[in-house]
Amino acid sequence: MAADRTKFILDEDRIPRAWYNINADLPTPAPPVLHPGTGQPIGPADLAPLFPMELIKQVVSQDREIEIPEPVRDAYRLYRPSPLFRAHRLEKALGTPAHIYYKYEGGSPSGSHKPNTALPQAFYNKEEGVTRLATETGAGQWGSALAFAGAMFGLDIKVYMVRSSYDQKPYRRVLMETYGAEVVASPSPDTQYGRSVLADKPDHTGSLGLAISEAIEDTVTHPGTKYSLGSVFDFVLLHQTVIGQEAIEQMALAGEEPDVVIGCAGGGSNFAGLTFPFIGRGLRGGPKPRIIAVEPEAAPSLTKGVYRYDFGDTAQMTPLVKMYTLGHSFIPEPIHAGGLRYHGMSPLVSMLKEQGMIEAQAVHQRATFEAGVRFARAEGILPAPEPTHAIKVAIDEAVEAREAGQSKVILFNLCGHGHFDLSAYERFLTGTLEDYEYPAEKVAEALEALAGLPVG
Ligand SMILES: *Cc1c(COP(=O)(O)O)cnc(C)c1O
Repeated sequence: MAADRTKFILDEDRIPRAWYNINADLPTPAPPVLHPGTGQPIGPADLAPLFPMELIKQVVSQDREIEIPEPVRDAYRLYRPSPLFRAHRLEKALGTPAHIYYKYEGGSPSGSHKPNTALPQAFYNKEEGVTRLATETGAGQWGSALAFAGAMFGLDIKVYMVRSSYDQKPYRRVLMETYGAEVVASPSPDTQYGRSVLADKPDHTGSLGLAISEAIEDTVTHPGTKYSLGSVFDFVLLHQTVIGQEAIEQMALAGEEPDVVIGCAGGGSNFAGLTFPFIGRGLRGGPKPRIIAVEPEAAPSLTKGVYRYDFGDTAQMTPLVKMYTLGHSFIPEPIHAGGLRYHGMSPLVSMLKEQGMIEAQAVHQRATFEAGVRFARAEGILPAPEPTHAIKVAIDEAVEAREAGQSKVILFNLCGHGHFDLSAYERFLTGTLEDYEYPAEKVAEALEALAGLPVG
């Protein structure tokens, strides 16, 4: 019986044949991306130095379905379809009548959802004659995924790794190097921008925004190189929709509809990957679950940021996108959920929040680890620090159901495992984990610096 099952598994031939493009179903188009110099909407030619043409086409497409190339689908077979679990043991531990489900993306070779987009990005670049990709990584998950994809499709990979993560997680670097990538701590001596930051502050802990600047500078100064990124951009979110499409089919196997769907949000890609197929189904007249994005109190763009045009990086090299932002010069505290340590948010996720189609919550670091440990003790899987944010809110929802004496179906994205995050768990277990408050003054200062930019 479906109610007794723990795992809902799909056969390999159920790997989706197309990615789901939410632009086809949105009531209003997303605001245009602007050129940083002219303030005018950018066209494909502006993006061509950074990305292969197929990816640029995907960003402007209005087709609901975008076919997944067979070599990418074939590489997906290494770990997709990913399992959907019913968290029977967590439900029992919480004494809740709620049914809790989680989609587990930690079984990919690099340990998170990120290969879902790393593989197609590597594939399209290879097809268009690119030999080398430059990128940034926060927690090291994206760098590991792209290093893995580079090994699959035969591309050289250069990774600028945020200094705080480089120091916290040396084994992530070793994994990337094992796949054949070159890794340097950011700020680095390898770029003009990195050198200028280091001259100013040699012990800079780095940030995603800063590492993006270095990777872009590397790209435009090395022939045969293009830029690759693991979140925020529309095509990244698009590739992640394999998660939600599979989850819809697996929830049907379980014979249930989620009342609430939850994901952690750094740049928004795993959140969008799980939720956009559900949101799209709602927009086409289907069921409409509550959708909740969860972010850290130390970098709460959706809950405390402003919705306006800003740069994606610190050095103001990226195009201007309209998004919830804390200001591109804001450097978050070195929280352990490095993948959520970002000043902005995907423009699509931002627009859905602005239009009231999704909710957002911010949670403190210590509370997320408490939820992660509780989850590990009940379900066995050790979550990455990022999805512990989703787990915290899933547990809150389940406890609320218990207190209200109501049944409820909860689905969240367990987007990565925490096997490289044990030093953070150790800090939690020994009572030395930091608990950062919302840095109101630093954010106010960073937002002031946006004064000259278009508001949109
Ligand atoms: C990168 C990463 C994130 C944050 O990025 P999103 O684009 O918001 O998904 C979250 N969780 C894990 C495990 C990651 O690797």
